[in-house]
Amino acid sequence: MSKYQVLLYYLYVPIEDPEQFAAEHLAFCKSLNLKGRILVANEGINGTLSGLTEDTQKYMEHMHADERFKDTFFKMDPAEEQSFKKMFVRPRPELVSLSLEDDINPLELTGAYLSPIEFKEAILDEDTVVIDARNDYEYDLGHFKGAVRPDIRSFRELPQWIRDNKEEFMDKRVVTYCTGGIRCEKFSGWLVREGFKDVGQLHGGIATYGRDPEVQGELWDGAMYVFDERISVPINHVNPVVVGRDWFDGTPSERYVNCGNPECNRQILCSEENEDKYVRGCSHECRVHDRNRYIDENNLTNDEWKTRIEALGEEFIFVVK
Ligand SMILES: [Zn+2]
Repeated sequence: MSKYQVLLYYLYVPIEDPEQFAAEHLAFCKSLNLKGRILVANEGINGTLSGLTEDTQKYMEHMHADERFKDTFFKMDPAEEQSFKKMFVRPRPELVSLSLEDDINPLELTGAYLSPIEFKEAILDEDTVVIDARNDYEYDLGHFKGAVRPDIRSFRELPQWIRDNKEEFMDKRVVTYCTGGIRCEKFSGWLVREGFKDVGQLHGGIATYGRDPEVQGELWDGAMYVFDERISVPINHVNPVVVGRDWFDGTPSERYVNCGNPECNRQILCSEENEDKYVRGCSHECRVHDRNRYIDENNLTNDEWKTRIEALGEEFIFVVK
């Protein structure tokens, strides 16, 4: 048994007074020395936590002893250390936001649940469209073979993107997937409401698919983006390949940085070498932005900064700070 463990879970279930629940739950998590992030809303709970394996076991027992959470399915990953620095439990108006005027309650409306093996068969079926229900930077690190990458920067733009591209999918079977399954619960429900006839979702998400003894993550290319300090985890244990590509030169990469411009903050894959070469800026504007964090973090003088920009064949307009 590993010393630490990471838990990932969600449950759509009515929770009264999320504010009070969050305060009490935070105290409980801290008493077990857990770290991570939990969101609580009237519609349910969604969390990812790390801690000593014995403490995470106590956490799961505590949750399962509560009538509301007795059906919670926990995905567990072994870990060498804590995967988070702090512990947050936050009340929210909703667990995942699709920015819908009319929200979806997955307990009332959602797509058919597909087991990992059923999902694998769907990927191989030519008449099925597989849609990635995550953000673009998550897709770029890894995704199911042949999955559609919606041209969006954030999950909440997904409904509009689907409406704009509807004719491509309307007559086909549509299946969706996300990291742990929570985003698909709503998104697939929304697809059903939009009139799609045959909608499926990967039950338990990619995390479950990677751990399933039968499929062992096969047909997944690349790694899976996770929202903790690990950044990425392997999924395909049969024939893994790297699909992440360096933002600057297109070479294989699984190394993430945030663009140095705090107003952009775009997540990009790049080598350490290119990060230095391009002063961590995803575009010329971001490279010369007067608050580019790379410059301060690396104590670059204005002359050094100018030299790097000009080495790229770009013009450096000096900005007095
Ligand atoms: Zn940028």
